[in-house]
Amino acid sequence: MSNYQAGQLIKKRCMECFHDEMKILKVTEKDLNEKNAYIVWIQCPECGTNDNELKPEGL
Ligand SMILES: [Zn+2]
Repeated sequence: MSNYQAGQLIKKRCMECFHDEMKILKVTEKDLNEKNAYIVWIQCPECGTNDNELKPEGL
């Protein structure tokens, strides 16, 4: 299971406005060769910029 959940705030700097927290919109699974990974879809609560990050399972 991913440790990330929709609605959660994570420490990450927005590339547009440099706000230092991003909100998780959703988390989807991705098969990366034989390892599981997650795509964490995030949005800046200040300017609304969308971004995503690939996270290996367990992080
Ligand atoms: Zn922003």
